[in-house]
Amino acid sequence: MIILIDPKISQSALHDLYRYLSDIGVLANPCSGGLRLEGAVERLDLPTLTALPGVLAVGEGMTLPLVQRKEDTEHSVVRVGEASFGKDYVCIAGPCAVESAEQILRIAHAVKSAGAHVLRGGCFKPRTSPYTFQGVGAEGIGWLVEAGKQAGLPTVCEVLSVEDLPLYGSVDMLQIGARNMQNFALLRAAAATGKPILLKRGMGATVEEWLASAEYILASGNPNVVLCERGVRHFATSARASLDLTTLPTVKARTHLPVIVDPSHACGDGRLVPSVALGVVAAGAMGLMIEVHDMPETALCDGPQAVTPAVLAELNGKIKRLGEIL
Ligand code: PEP
Ligand code: MN
Repeated sequence: MIILIDPKISQSALHDLYRYLSDIGVLANPCSGGLRLEGAVERLDLPTLTALPGVLAVGEGMTLPLVQRKEDTEHSVVRVGEASFGKDYVCIAGPCAVESAEQILRIAHAVKSAGAHVLRGGCFKPRTSPYTFQGVGAEGIGWLVEAGKQAGLPTVCEVLSVEDLPLYGSVDMLQIGARNMQNFALLRAAAATGKPILLKRGMGATVEEWLASAEYILASGNPNVVLCERGVRHFATSARASLDLTTLPTVKARTHLPVIVDPSHACGDGRLVPSVALGVVAAGAMGLMIEVHDMPETALCDGPQAVTPAVLAELNGKIKRLGEIL
């Protein structure tokens, strides 16, 4: 069991806490952020312990006290512009990559009309091959933000490295991609900006590891994390990844954080995206991230998995009706 302790706890409160624990036969060993408890932990009265001055959270038999749901009714809402993840259905849409000021502006208006609430577009792209398009870089962030402003959409953009963070000042939400889910230095530094974080699941990560990465962000003082399932590696070759729907009820039972799904990177084929997107919403996803391009055949990155704005509009119409049924 772990107790997270307020770094500003007074000496006397800390003394009282050690005394309370030792009196009932619990051993307290300092660990990062708090105390690891051993010994007669079954004798602890958790409500009493949690209420002691300087105790921020208590985690039972695990190391994720901040991410863990404490009551069935606990749900975090993460606000990005006018979008409220965890409260309303939120659709993030836009191209895989920002390609030019004109391209992102056109697509921003198109996805806004198609019912999107947040505009996406990567400027530094994590590509498997070093010889493929790596993104337009810093300049693209300005184009993305401006397009979002003109279309009336907040923006989310993937950050690949700690050094790039100062470039993201005007972006509303930072995306940590699958490949960086366990880049702990990046998680901490991104958290320190205070911006909401969209944390994608690593393509080979367990739910435990994914939640532990979210815990890094929360433990750095930033409570605004949205989890995004995007599929995991699998032996099947029928799609780019295997979309693990079991994570939706599993994660929702474990954490108060909102969880959304990116069917685009899981499918790798735009033709599969609409039906899979409907399925994940029915299974409890609180939102979607969908790659959209108005000319998918010319896209510089991930064109085959993009849907057109018209397809997104139809999908969002169906999701609205599905929401009413559910
Ligand atoms: C992306 O959203 O553009 C992306 C690279 O996704 P992932 O990190 O899930 O592969
Ligand atoms: Mn992509």
